[in-house]
Amino acid sequence: MNIILFGPPGAGKGTQAKHLVKKLNLFQVSTGDILREEIKKKSEIGKKIINNMNDGKFVSDDIVNQLIKKIVFDPQKKNKLIFDGYPRSIAQANNLDSLLNSTNQKINLIFFLNVNKNIILKRVQKRKTQENRSDDDLNTLLKRYDTYMETTKPVLDFYSKNSNFYEIDGTLEIDQITRKIDTFLNV
Ligand code: AMP
Repeated sequence: MNIILFGPPGAGKGTQAKHLVKKLNLFQVSTGDILREEIKKKSEIGKKIINNMNDGKFVSDDIVNQLIKKIVFDPQKKNKLIFDGYPRSIAQANNLDSLLNSTNQKINLIFFLNVNKNIILKRVQKRKTQENRSDDDLNTLLKRYDTYMETTKPVLDFYSKNSNFYEIDGTLEIDQITRKIDTFLNV
């Protein structure tokens, strides 16, 4: 089972991914977490991406695609992937498609957590006080939201035509969203 969790920043993708990891024994592929780890390690990649991340801009497709390739090709993770925050551009969606094809895998389910901008602003301000993420301050978040609308929303339009695409009201309580997701797992 490979799953994509899709939605704007603050939609609750990470929270639901963790639930699915536990329930289905999947691997969470959070490009945001992987990139933050590179910055923490002060790796070559980390040095290249720190300014973009802190400014709320995307990291280049080349860097992210490279990181994803290793994971999709990892035999231990085959058919156990839950993508959280990837793909975020049409180029990334095409890359994922070809990586999955060449490893005989597919995406079984795509969940779109739909949340409006006002709720996102409230949620992320709360997260800022809990996690202290440098890209959660209001100005950076607004930029991240604009980038989502410009570059990521077209991916949504592309995926929403698939028969395995399910839209879920992301403004519901965490448990309610989890229950909704669970109802589609056996479809
Ligand atoms: P997230 O934790 O998913 O909200 O991601 C935090 C930041 O990491 C984003 O604002 C981007 O700067 C970067 N990032 C995460 N995933 C991607 C991706 N798929 N493509 C480009 N940049 C990404």
